[in-house]
This record gives sequence, C-alpha cells and structure tokens, in this order.
Amino acid sequence: MRIPLIPSELKDFAQVFRRAGRQCYIVGGAVRDGLIGRLVADYDAATDAPPEEVMRLFRRVVPTGIKHGTVTVLWKGRNIETTTFRRDLGYSDGRRPDKVEFGASLEEDLARRDFTINAMALDPLESRIIDPHGGQADLERRLVRAVGDPVLRFAEDGLRPLRAVRFATQLGFEIEAATFAAVNGALSRLKAVSAERLREEIEKILMASEPSRGLRLMEESGMLAIVLPELTACRGVEQRGLHRFDVLDHLYVSLDASPRDREIRLAALFHDIGKPGTRRREDDGVFTFHRHEELSARLAEGILKRLRFPNAVIDEVTHLIRQHMFFYDESWSDAAVRRFLARVGTDHVDKLLALRLADSTGILGHPADPRSIEPLRRRIDAVIAKDEALGLKDLAIGGSELAALGVPRGPVMGRILAELLETVLDDPEQNTKEQLLRIARGIMPKYGL
Ligand code: ATP
Ligand code: MG
Repeated sequence: MRIPLIPSELKDFAQVFRRAGRQCYIVGGAVRDGLIGRLVADYDAATDAPPEEVMRLFRRVVPTGIKHGTVTVLWKGRNIETTTFRRDLGYSDGRRPDKVEFGASLEEDLARRDFTINAMALDPLESRIIDPHGGQADLERRLVRAVGDPVLRFAEDGLRPLRAVRFATQLGFEIEAATFAAVNGALSRLKAVSAERLREEIEKILMASEPSRGLRLMEESGMLAIVLPELTACRGVEQRGLHRFDVLDHLYVSLDASPRDREIRLAALFHDIGKPGTRRREDDGVFTFHRHEELSARLAEGILKRLRFPNAVIDEVTHLIRQHMFFYDESWSDAAVRRFLARVGTDHVDKLLALRLADSTGILGHPADPRSIEPLRRRIDAVIAKDEALGLKDLAIGGSELAALGVPRGPVMGRILAELLETVLDDPEQNTKEQLLRIARGIMPKYGL
C-alpha cells in the first residue's frame, strides 16, 4: 500500500529520539487511517525510551498515563501520545492488564494490540511500514481481524468485541469470520467493562456514517442484549398503521437518517423505546402507544446515566424525546406556535425538527422530504423575529414585583408567574408591567392571597 505522507514536524519529533539513540514509530489509528486515505486527527507514537526519559527529552510533556507508559508530548502545535514499548501481563479481570512490563521490543508491542489493522508501525524517518500481522492485507480486504487467537484476545479484554464492531462501522469493513465467531464466548467479559469505555465506543459507532450497521452487528452477536437491552426489547414489536418497520428497525432507520450530531443521534436511537411498554391493541386491531414519549425519555435517561454520559447530554436528549410527538398543521394559531416554542425552547427547536425528519424517514422507509418541515420552520422564524416573550425571563414583571404585591416566594409565586406567561403567550400585547400587575392582583385571591 502507499506509505502515507508524513508531516515534517513528525519527522523532527522522531529525530529527537534518534539523536538520543532511541527508536520512535507512529502506531495505531494514524497508520491505519493514513494508509487508507482517511483523515488523521492525532498521532500516537511508540518508543523504546522509558517514560521518564521521554519526559527529559522534551520541554512540554504531560504524564497522562504514566503507569501504562504513556506521556503526551506537546510538539509544534500537536499533542503526541507517546507510549513506551510494553508487554501486557495477565488479564485476570478481563478489563485491564494486571501489570504492564516495559523493556519490550517493537514486535512485542505490536503483538499486544487488538486488530491487525491497528498493529502496524510507521518509521517516520525511513518511510517504512512494519507490519508483522498482515494489517495492510486486511485493510485491502476491508477486514477487522484479531491479532492472534481471537478467543484468547477477547478473554483478555471484554471491550475488544465492541471495538471490532466500532472499527467495522467507522471504516465500512466486515469483521473476519473467526473474530466474529469468538464474540459469543466473550459476552460475559463484556459485562465487566467499565461504563466509560463502553460509552466511548458506542459514541463512535453512533457518529459513523451508517451507525445502524454497528447496532445490527451488536444485535447479531448478542452484545446489544447486554449493553442496551432496552433496544433488544423493541425487536419484533409491530406497529402497523403508516409504519413499515417494527420498532427496532424504525429506530435504526431513524438513526441513520439523522444528522451527525451526538444529541440528535442519541434521541433518534431511543425516541420510541417506550413503545413495547405502552402498546395496547384496540378492538379494531390497531396498536396504540399512549404517552410512549414519556416512558421512552425515562428509559433513555436510565441508559445514559448508566453509561455515564454528561448531564447536559442527558438533559437535552431526554427533552428531545419528550417533545417528539407534535403534529403541526396550518390551523395552528400564532399562540399555538408560541406555546410550542416556549415548551421546546428556541435552543432545541432545530434539533427537534431534525429529529422529526429522521423519524419520518424511519416511518416511511425512504427519505422524507426535507420541505415537509418548512411551513412550521417559517412560522417559528416569524415568531422568533418578533422577539416576543417565550419564557419567564421575558415577562415584564418578575419575582420582586410579585413580592412587592405580597406574594411569598415559593411554589405559589411560580404558579402565578406560569399563569402570566400563559396569558402572554396567548396575547403578547399583555406583556406590560401595568397589565401584568393588574392580572396578578386578579388571580391572587385564587391562591388565598
Ligand atoms: P481512533 O482513531 O478512534 O483514536 P485508534 O486506533 O487510535 O482509533 P485508540 O482507542 O485511540 O484507537 O487506541 C490506539 C491504539 O492502541 C489502537 O490502534 C490499538 O493498537 C491499541 N489499543 C487500544 N485499545 C486497545 C485494546 N483494548 N486492546 C488492545 N489494543 C488496544
Ligand atoms: Mg487514537
């Protein structure tokens, strides 16, 4: 295969090692991606120099994973993760090596890596590829194949089967047959893997151009039932009506149709997972899924917490799921558009419309017409352009004015403010200080004030 172009600053980097009598290779994803012409975002390096020596060789070094021999060198605008050649000894828990041992050779270091396409090294000074496991041949055949015996390699680290799926999905490769067959025996090891490591791989699968390929591979190999059983529960749940697919295929197609945005993709994947738990069969044989968006949001919250997603992500994804059941038609009044916007929030409305389009594609089984959301889009833009009140912070009076009227701070004040907002959403003309004070005085007796 063609040797990838090596940026000159990496050659300079390797030169520092050579002058110290040490070796330095580019390893891992950068070699793989460089060989197939994929964009290389960051470079990892491997060296025979122990970490302490690497720290002495460079001025700006962060000891990011010093126990495992990894330091990050800040070099000419790049962060180069530099790891000392190592052997991994013993994996009694199927999660991480019990001990790593330095003083290994490049060949030993490549042999501990997971897949042949990830187990090559590039010598930046000689422009030479070191490829003892046939990584280039597998790149040409478009195969993800374990280095060595897949059964043993998966027993060492239960995350590797999911990584195989991740690389197959990102690269559009197949998983080599023996490697795929070994997944089944490693499922119990997958259960022991930390949430953070699972999340990283799942996020990468979801951000691929056809993420459903990864989910189908997970489903077929039994991984989905362990990592995301809430999805497996959607398999075979028929919906009828306009729907072409069962719930799980509907979610897969919606996911593939959604833009490459983490929150939209997570919402697309989970937006209907409450359907199995809410399905009712009516007398005429039609299925209903009353309030499934609420159950979907609650289940999604559980999944995202379990996988330790950041709270901001959890909040937005569950919000999008809760709001996904809206049905616009031109009979909506301006007040209805304002109430919709107030409920969804102007910050989230673009994502919600994107989710709707993806959902429609998942129902129809062919790409939904992007113009279908235009009429609502235009109404929303018109409301936003008028800059009318859509939230409590936009009201002409606030808590201190109500307090001056004798409303105690607390839940009652909250309810009065909510009523004022309802009034203003119906009729923006009411949003003046005098008018809102008058209305507030009118409703205070209702709360015993
Ligand atoms: P990406 O481009 O997504 O970063 P990558 O191949 O660099 O892909 P990383 O997870 O960053 O993947 O790991 C860097 C390298 O370290 C891999 O290419 C592989 O050689 C090795 N590696 C990472 N995780 C494992 C693992 N669990 N078992 C064995 N080798 C691993
Ligand atoms: Mg990497």
